Amino acid sequence: MKPKIVHKRKDCIGCNSCVLLAPQTWQMDTKEGKSRLIGSKEKRGLFVGEIFPIDLEANKKAAKACPMHIIKIENA
Ligand code: SF4
Repeated sequence: MKPKIVHKRKDCIGCNSCVLLAPQTWQMDTKEGKSRLIGSKEKRGLFVGEIFPIDLEANKKAAKACPMHIIKIENA
């Protein structure tokens, strides 16, 4: 099972840390001032996506660095 990432996007302050640490998974939406979890789907206000195991470490760092604590990793 691939690791799953959940992003509570509405609380994102656009600090860019996740984009810098895991650019393969995150991109900045400069218009909205919030990051985007690439390839994610919205489920009840949360954005959910899968990542390849090779991208897990970078995303663990991004989750740890997020000042809002809105990046959660599951199945890892
Ligand atoms: S690290 Fe957190 S607050 Fe900063 S851009 Fe990424 S999701 Fe948003």
